[in-house]
Amino acid sequence: MGKPIHFNILGEKYVLKRELGLLENDLMGRCSAHRKIIEVDARLKGFDYKSTMLHEFVHAVIHESSVNQAIPIQLEEIICDQIAKCLCQNFTIYPKAQK
Ligand SMILES: [Zn+2]
Repeated sequence: MGKPIHFNILGEKYVLKRELGLLENDLMGRCSAHRKIIEVDARLKGFDYKSTMLHEFVHAVIHESSVNQAIPIQLEEIICDQIAKCLCQNFTIYPKAQK
């Protein structure tokens, strides 16, 4: 197992975890702003993995900037989906090497 991957999201340290069992609960990933954890189902690969990771990453940005207090959750989901999809289609994104 490699080093855990961390993200700096507006000054808050989040950890990225691959979890088993999310898909069984109809989830590809989830973001806990309270626990500062981004979880992605361990079986996702390629585009599904990357777009899910970025979707949850955008949730974390929305929460850390308190934008979630100003928009309904349905709109937050659309924003996360569309930004993640566009980033995946236009950039090659890998988590930064961890020190
Ligand atoms: Zn979401």
